[in-house]
Amino acid sequence: MASKISLVIAAGGIGSRFQKGLSRGKQRESKTKLFHLLDGQPVLFHSIRAFDDVPQVEEIVLAVPAEAKSEIRRLTRGWSKHPLKVVSGGGTRAESVFNAIKQSKPENSLVMIHDAARPLIAPQSIKQLIRAFKDTDGLLLVSPVAATVKQTLSHSVRVEKTLDRDRLFTAETPQLANRRVLLDAYKQKNALSATDEAGLLESAGARVKIMTHDSWNPKITTLKDLALAEAYLQLLKPQPVIKTGLGQDLHRLAAGRKLYLGGLHIPYNKGALGHSDGDVVLHAVTDAVLGVMGAGDIGDWFSDKDKRFKNIRSEKLLKKVMAAAAKEKWRIVHVDVVITLQKPKLGNYKIKIKQNLAHLLEVPAEDVSIKAKTAEGLGPEGREEALSCQALITMKKESI
Ligand code: MG
Repeated sequence: MASKISLVIAAGGIGSRFQKGLSRGKQRESKTKLFHLLDGQPVLFHSIRAFDDVPQVEEIVLAVPAEAKSEIRRLTRGWSKHPLKVVSGGGTRAESVFNAIKQSKPENSLVMIHDAARPLIAPQSIKQLIRAFKDTDGLLLVSPVAATVKQTLSHSVRVEKTLDRDRLFTAETPQLANRRVLLDAYKQKNALSATDEAGLLESAGARVKIMTHDSWNPKITTLKDLALAEAYLQLLKPQPVIKTGLGQDLHRLAAGRKLYLGGLHIPYNKGALGHSDGDVVLHAVTDAVLGVMGAGDIGDWFSDKDKRFKNIRSEKLLKKVMAAAAKEKWRIVHVDVVITLQKPKLGNYKIKIKQNLAHLLEVPAEDVSIKAKTAEGLGPEGREEALSCQALITMKKESI
């Protein structure tokens, strides 16, 4: 049976600026690197969630600065699938980790330590590390050194030698250790100044092995690291597809018909003649959505020979098309509408049409634009024989 693991996440270095950064709530102003957002979630959130599907992890002990403990405890509630305990760290990383280990369950024979500032850790690498833990007291994740590394004479710019990079690796976390051996290693003098647990084991003469892995697992220490990590995550994501559709409609005006624009009834002595309610705005918008989908036009979908659509309210037609678009994961980014109508003047109705159309399309009103024009007395609209509408819709979908 696989040994159970107590996972310690070292989240020191949040410090006194933590509270200030959080209370302001704005990423730009926050100095707290672990609560900076990465792909929309705090860095710390990623570092915790990476272990969600690692069944050997039995508990997580998060070591944080004492002054931030209660706040972090509140913020991290529900972040992990594993039991999560937030404890006070110490003056150094080693002290923080040591304090956390002391508060973990002694029956878990393995201790895993991870830097909270390594949010990109791949669950695959964690699992590999656990599988590879054999015949050793400690095992750590490393990356080969790609650069040529020069070693200088002490306190000098004079190069002593070029190191053999085939034998050089940068230490990362997680690091996995036998609990008993690691606790023994803490008994050494200067133990609390160790910069990582593997180093502590080495200095105690314990067996330590490395494991390379393929994923990128940087430590986020500067804004540059955060920006690179963000760019990396965005690059891995499928890029959205954005398309624009154009719709146009024109209806004759006739006495004794109701005038509907954008689903709104406009009091007037004439209305649009049509098989349906003749709402030019909704027809143009519907056609624009079909344009984005490349799915024909409103006549293909709702034939004017079909009795079911006789005098139908155009909202129903739009809803059907919107449902089809939603099924294809299209969502509206922006809608721009131009209505051409000599009379009545639409100045007082533009806001209401905008709000109603936004409501029908289930988008915020600021994503909808309504413009109204007269035709200067020219053409069918100008002679009040007709009204027309043009609509331009921009839609977006995440590619799969
Ligand atoms: Mg029409």
